[in-house]
Amino acid sequence: MGIAIIYAGAVVYGVVSALGVLNHDLGAPYSYLFLFAVAAYYISYVSLRKISLLHTIIAGVAANLAVQLSGGISSPLFLMYFLTFLVIGFRDNARNYWIVSLGIIGIEFSSGLITRSVHVLPLVFLLFSVFMIGYMIDSVQGHQGRMARLLSRYETREKFFSPATYESDRLHTSVGEIDRHKGIERPLLYFVRFLHNVFDAHTTAIFANNDNGLVLVQGFSHSELFFPEAVVNVKSGLYRQVITERKSILIKEYLQSPDELGYYRGPVQIGSIMIAPIVLIDDVAGVLAIDRKTGSFSEKDKIVFDEAAKSGGFLLAMLRLYEKARYDVQHLSSIAELAEKLHKRLDLKEILSNTIDAFRHFMPCDDVSIASVDEINNVGVVLVSTYVEENTKFPLDDGLVGFVARHRNSIIKDDLGKGNLVVFNKGVKTPNTSFVGVPIQQDDELLGVIWLEDHQRRKFNEDDVRILNILSYQLSLAWQRAILYGKVKELSIRDGLTDLYNHRHFQEILEAQINEVDELVLILLDIDHFKKINDTYGHQAGDRVLKFLGRLISQIGIAARYGGEEFAIIVPGCSLKKAMDKVIRMKDQLLKSEVSFDGAKIKFTVSIGIAHYPNDATTRVDLIEMADRALYLAKEQGRDRIIIAQTMRGK
Ligand code: GH3
Ligand code: MG
Ligand code: MG
Repeated sequence: MGIAIIYAGAVVYGVVSALGVLNHDLGAPYSYLFLFAVAAYYISYVSLRKISLLHTIIAGVAANLAVQLSGGISSPLFLMYFLTFLVIGFRDNARNYWIVSLGIIGIEFSSGLITRSVHVLPLVFLLFSVFMIGYMIDSVQGHQGRMARLLSRYETREKFFSPATYESDRLHTSVGEIDRHKGIERPLLYFVRFLHNVFDAHTTAIFANNDNGLVLVQGFSHSELFFPEAVVNVKSGLYRQVITERKSILIKEYLQSPDELGYYRGPVQIGSIMIAPIVLIDDVAGVLAIDRKTGSFSEKDKIVFDEAAKSGGFLLAMLRLYEKARYDVQHLSSIAELAEKLHKRLDLKEILSNTIDAFRHFMPCDDVSIASVDEINNVGVVLVSTYVEENTKFPLDDGLVGFVARHRNSIIKDDLGKGNLVVFNKGVKTPNTSFVGVPIQQDDELLGVIWLEDHQRRKFNEDDVRILNILSYQLSLAWQRAILYGKVKELSIRDGLTDLYNHRHFQEILEAQINEVDELVLILLDIDHFKKINDTYGHQAGDRVLKFLGRLISQIGIAARYGGEEFAIIVPGCSLKKAMDKVIRMKDQLLKSEVSFDGAKIKFTVSIGIAHYPNDATTRVDLIEMADRALYLAKEQGRDRIIIAQTMRGK
């Protein structure tokens, strides 16, 4: 009612103003004052975004009044029009803009006609500006608006079909996104078409309900004005009533504007309508609307229509179940793919970081961490984490991770703030609120714990534990294989008797070191008369000697068993002099030592050849050759001595 009065007032004002009654009566300063007051009123409404046609009309009237009072179209306030148009155009909506701006031009034009003083140039200028500004608004806002509408419509439709208990974004996996099944809409399409024919409708439409309003999902219409992209506001009107009361509506004689139905682009003659909510468990998931051009729906129609809306709910529930099952299958096959990927890896670090990456896709959460667990020493070590530094150690008695390890059981915590729960270490405060952790174990062996955290409360549920357990099992297999592989690899580079590096690995290290450091010293060492030791004390005694010497030379540098009773030592980044000091000290020590075996005390000496890279040779093969020649010389000169390759020059 109030609005009607304001509109009527605006029309009266327009007529009075056009008749020229108001012209030129007031000086410009008063007009400015008046205009300022009304502009403040308008701007406050606009900035609150409570825009309605009413406020826009008031703004237009105010601008026009100011112009009229201060001398009409020849007044300096004439310029206010353009300012007003711009504000309306860019803050308000396009419809309001056109109504108000063309209204003002209408008033100006008729005023000019009536008072017989048509100012053609300003009028043309005004008209031109109105169209230019309008065109600008349309192209700027229209584009943005269309994009936004399209996007929100697309998202809502996706949600309408997506499984109820699964958010679609959590279904993105490392393997590829899971799309909605192409045929999922088809049953609904047939359902709507069936209703359309049964009720002899002009238009039948099914809407999805979301926070922003009702989004048209599917519809049939005989009208050319049917608008398939419709998104309807439900702040008021029939739809709001249907949604809040969860009851259908039948209007036998529909007299209102079809604007209210939301799916027509223009005026359409409608005879009767029915609207019913589609209820899914406790939610109004959508709305079913139907109208007829002539004749009216009966009470009996309404009963059938209500049943149809219920069937619509069942149909939707079934479609969602179907999608959920399909997602589950795809989810599991994605896990299998991850497992396959993990099993191709042999490096634990790589396996763990692969797992973390995959988790971020399977279960979107803020943080993922994996720790290894040493039950004997009661400590855990963070191996990889999105927020904790690697290799952070923590006691297993402290936090939730320790609890998971000690009890070998998963835990979910919804609110870490409650009771000040510690995640893994008292010293490290978590930025998160929700926690879920599961043990990683193989048979009876506990390898570690994997845990997820999120800032949102109650983020994780039993479903997540189920998936986590599957993944954790896959991880444990890969983990154990990585440990085994590590052991095998270690075995393959070591000598079984002395535990020094073997010949092959020695060659690899020497090559690598030559490429890496500026200088290094290579020492070759051979036990003197070793055969005699074997012969005198037995082969086992000989072995004991080899082990003893192996430990002794490990103190000098990277030691390897070069051959039977020959050893090699690489001292990287070392000058010849420093290396010599070390070797001499080692030899002194050897002189004082004896190896006990079966009551015997075995004493022995060694011969040593030393070469320096790059002074004596620049390649691996040449360097070994030089050291070997020095060693040979040491043997030749009577054994138990050190020969430096450098001294052989010229010999
Ligand atoms: P030289 O001073 O000239 O080096 O005399 P040697 O007896 O040490 O030299 P030779 O190379 O002739 O003999 C090496 C011996 O080392 C031969 C072999 O039986 C023995 N040998 C090689 N590998 C092992 C091992 O693993 N254990 C034991 N106990 N003996 C080994
Ligand atoms: Mg020997
Ligand atoms: Mg030998």
